[in-house]
Amino acid sequence: MSLLELRGVSKIYGTVKALQDIDLTVERGEWLAIMGPSGSGKTTLMNIIGCMDKATHGSVILDGVDISTLNSRELTAIRRDKIGLVFQQFHLIPYLTALENVMVAQYYHSLPDEKEAMAALERVGLKERARHLPSQLSGGEQQRVCIARALINYPMLILADEPTGNLDEANEHIVLKLFQELHREGHTIIMVTHDPEVADLAGRCLILEHGRVAGFRKGDVLDRAG
Ligand code: ADP
Ligand code: MG
Repeated sequence: MSLLELRGVSKIYGTVKALQDIDLTVERGEWLAIMGPSGSGKTTLMNIIGCMDKATHGSVILDGVDISTLNSRELTAIRRDKIGLVFQQFHLIPYLTALENVMVAQYYHSLPDEKEAMAALERVGLKERARHLPSQLSGGEQQRVCIARALINYPMLILADEPTGNLDEANEHIVLKLFQELHREGHTIIMVTHDPEVADLAGRCLILEHGRVAGFRKGDVLDRAG
């Protein structure tokens, strides 16, 4: 059974067709990149896969469960148990330390456990920065705190929406190395990016255009769908 299967997924906001008739299968352990112009539906697609929004039409099967039929409480539970989210904007709580920010995620999942939170920070190379506030951390360090936070529930799927979009080159490199390690360890990753070099790290790269699957990127060219 594939980890994720979208069939005929559409999302309509008023008169805007943000996604139209998306079919997509993602296997366990895969790293899928998603590229496409601004407004092509990348974030909408991530929100639907990440149980933060619901498709208008179509079905979304995640780990054998059709999440398109669930109510918001059930979606929250799936998101909490199965998904790790990393955003371009870090969404760290400014008055909490790195360690406390990770522990907030534990609180929503199970019970805050300082040792486990510290281990997650160690995992991303930030043990020495655990007591720092976000404002005392570089962009790359803040994003690594976010990755530690996303890993706290041992997610079966990591969703990252332009995770290096706000980072300089050195920090981008550190964060991408971390994603490569996670992939090697068997994590499934879906990552939106504007950077072809980042997309090249993934096994496949889906191209969205006007809310539709345009095809998959092969080398520097687009292998058009249909
Ligand atoms: P991308 O992430 O590729 O830049 P989005 O998924 O954010 O694109 O947006 C796709 C389209 O859907 C855009 O035309 C956008 O304006 C529209 N859209 C996204 N979210 C909403 C919303 N909550 N309400 C209305 N329109 C939206
Ligand atoms: Mg977006």
